[in-house]
Amino acid sequence: MNQTFLMVESMLKLSKLVPLLTAVSITALLAMVLVVRIGHAEPKPIDALAAGRINYSTLRDATSGHATIDGRYQEHVLAVANTIPARLQPALKGTDFINGCHPWSTKQLGDCAYGTYDPEGWDHDDTHGHQWANSIWISSQAVRAGTASDVVLHEVGHAVVHNLFSDCYFPQQAETSVKNLLMQSFAHPQADPAELLADAFVIAFNTHSRDLHTHYFDDFNFEASKEVILKIRAAVWLCSK
Ligand SMILES: [Zn+2]
Repeated sequence: MNQTFLMVESMLKLSKLVPLLTAVSITALLAMVLVVRIGHAEPKPIDALAAGRINYSTLRDATSGHATIDGRYQEHVLAVANTIPARLQPALKGTDFINGCHPWSTKQLGDCAYGTYDPEGWDHDDTHGHQWANSIWISSQAVRAGTASDVVLHEVGHAVVHNLFSDCYFPQQAETSVKNLLMQSFAHPQADPAELLADAFVIAFNTHSRDLHTHYFDDFNFEASKEVILKIRAAVWLCSK
């Protein structure tokens, strides 16, 4: 199923459990899905990719009841992750990329999300702090659909907003964070602006010529202006220093 999801509203409730983190977590607690192949010249390998920080056998046990760890496309997912443009990588320090179905997302959706960004390690029982904190999950379905690179970029967008934009300010607009300014640019009566913003990263940073996988843009018939895409690129440049 080409389904991506709105995690944010539910996660807002969950985030009350971690008030200290709420401010930075709201949009990025979990997210998912979408689109593009990232092809940037000479991407640098991400430090944590091969570190093996997560014990997968333990994770499989911890999330029993869901087909969480797949792994058939783990190498593919890592290869895609290694094409993430260098300018986005400051948001991905220590981030693990996992081929599988995120346990919390799977429980919420009743299905395997194409992608999930999980900064805090949420499990299906609404506990958090698990060993997969700071991870991006890409499902085998997303890989088979040819959308892994776009989905990765969408999830990376959530990570960038979460890790780089919350406490970063444009020089002329010092009273409002870059994150909040961009959220305002994606305000929508039905769609979650955090998801639209993550889709915009696919537009802003993809390098392939195939149709983009932008689930939320498609669902809500949304288009981003050239100006706002440029603003996102400028924000990445400003906030990743
Ligand atoms: Zn998302």
